[in-house]
Amino acid sequence: MTASTVFISGATGFIAQHIILQLLKKGYNVVGQVRSSSKGDALAKDVKSSRFSYEVVEVLEKEGAFDNALASHPEVSVFIHTASPVTFSPEDNERDVLIPAINGTKNVLASIKKVAPQIKRVILTSSAVASGSFAELQDPKFIGGEDSWNPITYEQAVSGDAVAAYEGSKKFAEQAAWDFVKKEHPKFSLTAILPVYVFGPQAFVSGLKSLNETTQLIANVLQLKKDDPIPPVENSYVDVRDAAAAHIGAFEKDSAAGKRLLVTSGRFHYQNVVDIVRENFPQYADQLPIGTPAGKNQFAGYTKLEDSNATQILGIDYIGFKKVISDEIKQILDNQA
Ligand code: NAP
Repeated sequence: MTASTVFISGATGFIAQHIILQLLKKGYNVVGQVRSSSKGDALAKDVKSSRFSYEVVEVLEKEGAFDNALASHPEVSVFIHTASPVTFSPEDNERDVLIPAINGTKNVLASIKKVAPQIKRVILTSSAVASGSFAELQDPKFIGGEDSWNPITYEQAVSGDAVAAYEGSKKFAEQAAWDFVKKEHPKFSLTAILPVYVFGPQAFVSGLKSLNETTQLIANVLQLKKDDPIPPVENSYVDVRDAAAAHIGAFEKDSAAGKRLLVTSGRFHYQNVVDIVRENFPQYADQLPIGTPAGKNQFAGYTKLEDSNATQILGIDYIGFKKVISDEIKQILDNQA
């Protein structure tokens, strides 16, 4: 479909900022939702485009939260909903993570139906954890992806650890969105994007001041010392620039309507992060642990996550792990105070 103005929630986020840059580059106008005018002003200063503006919506989970923002922009024809808590240290799982994610999603969709019926496409940033638990996604034999759901219950997400809260927030927010479409018959069609772990450089160096959870995980490699164990992190990855492009492809391609698109480039182990940094940033070669440098066929025998919708519809030529990690670490080192 053609669209000239795109509204994006969570505009300050790691992935959202790349989506904004790519949208502007493609000629779209962008309205970004932020939580405060100081955040909006800071973002506008980075974005530096007369085709970008922002709207303040402080609290996602308040009923009608997006009514005014959307009523002020009748020119918007696409809504990308990325805003959701990405925190692994909530004080209260339900209050801090589950309710903003789930009710925030329901409010966005209700506002669109009520005050912005001209919006024809809604893209929801879900997550691979909506399709399987962290443990399942880490399991070489796990079969799932675009057709599966994380088995977690709402009660487990409320009473479990921070990971359980995040898993539940993504699963139940995405399910709430599909339920809304089924029951409310809105004029828009929905596409859910399910990224795996998203890494890579920030859209703006100001983002380096407070890294989001996943880029911090990679940045932590620079703190490792010779005798430290290699962190036992193993999963699937996608570059943030590819994850952003997927959100745009999802509304540009009509065939993505009504589908879940799981975006993944491949598997990684934290050993790969260490190997890449030791190879490409020789000043760290002596400081970092060696571990067991990974061979070429490290992931032979692993089941590929089910991503056929994304592969067929988006046709992204995914960025490989060496470039993802090198670009992120180089940006950090180049901008160290
Ligand atoms: P991020 O940089 O932490 O961005 C999160 C965005 O959501 C920010 O704009 C943040 O606003 C907003 N937000 C967080 N909690 C909120 C709340 N309670 N009320 C209102 N707004 C809130 O994280 P990200 O990695 O870009 O994540 C963006 C989306 O991608 C999320 O939906 C996340 O679940 C999904 N995702 C991320 C990954 C990954 O590996 N990073 C993987 C799969 C899916 P402030 O800046 O004001 O805090």
